[in-house]
Amino acid sequence: MIKLNNIHKKFGDLHVLKGIDEEINKGEVLAIIGPSGSGKSTLLRCINFLEPPCDGDVHFEGKLITKDSKILNSYRQQIGMVFQQFNLFPNKTVLENITMAPILLKKYSTEEANEIGLALLERIGLSDKKNEFPSKLSGGQKQRVAIARALAMKPKAMLFDEPTSALDPEMVGEVLELMKSLANEDVTMIVVTHEMGFAREVADRVLFMDEGAVVESGSPKEIFTCASHPRTIDFLSKVL
Ligand code: ATP
Ligand code: MG
Repeated sequence: MIKLNNIHKKFGDLHVLKGIDEEINKGEVLAIIGPSGSGKSTLLRCINFLEPPCDGDVHFEGKLITKDSKILNSYRQQIGMVFQQFNLFPNKTVLENITMAPILLKKYSTEEANEIGLALLERIGLSDKKNEFPSKLSGGQKQRVAIARALAMKPKAMLFDEPTSALDPEMVGEVLELMKSLANEDVTMIVVTHEMGFAREVADRVLFMDEGAVVESGSPKEIFTCASHPRTIDFLSKVL
């Protein structure tokens, strides 16, 4: 579904991604792990062109993605992204946060968008917060709304960049549960995470990155119980 071909990214002299080749299949849950600064966030941002790659190609469903605004806008509407810091619109209510993109980008009527938004709020157990502003929510609630906001666009794939890293420990579980339920519905997901339990339990494949390259990838069992590369083994010895 998403095919990355020799992706390079440089910031000035800093060569952050050094030729990434990967293919993410429909329905696959890919967990990306690796040390701080290894390029995990940059890779996600290259996948949805928040940072256009300096070199290499991204294909989505067989189609080459370019900076052409028509291609890019249509692509981005099909790829949801969830950030560590939620990035909700502070001056919009919870429901408006969810309905804004469908109304603006998909040209849904307010009624249609509200119907979708309310169903999503019901799903995440926050129907009673629909008219609140984000500042009134806990971190876990904010992140669940951010996920619902992405889902409102009915994306074909979801990118998550450390969605639980900014949360108090007691809120991590509710967000991981929601992500797990999406995984069980065969949503295609790429998840950068420090949650090794989630990677082990929910991911179909785990990819270990270091210094801008994919060191190895495999099933959770392969990576967590018999990683072959010394750098993977060293990293896992520090985080497990
Ligand atoms: P972490 O686990 O800490 O989130 P990461 O693996 O996500 O790390 P990236 O955020 O992708 O790492 O950063 C990789 C490298 O690229 C780092 O050295 C970072 O400082 C640099 N970098 C990232 N974004 C930019 C930018 N916009 N401009 C300059 N350098 C950047
Ligand atoms: Mg990061």
